[in-house]
Amino acid sequence: MTISTCGKCGGHSFELALFTPIGDSRKLTLVQCSACGVAVGALDPSTGSQIEVLRSEVAAIDQKLARIAQALQEWR
Ligand SMILES: [Zn+2]
Repeated sequence: MTISTCGKCGGHSFELALFTPIGDSRKLTLVQCSACGVAVGALDPSTGSQIEVLRSEVAAIDQKLARIAQALQEWR
């Protein structure tokens, strides 16, 4: 696999950023250069919403774990 290179600064590190287009309520996930911030691509909004679903599932698991931890402490 080749390493992606930023067309502006030649950097090799990229990050994801949430971006809301003007007049649109949906958030797009942009892939941008972490050095200069140039957007090199956008992820499919449906992929983004899948990530949101995963996030809420992780949050739910987190709450359950917190409850289990609390119950364990009450037993002592
Ligand atoms: Zn760059």
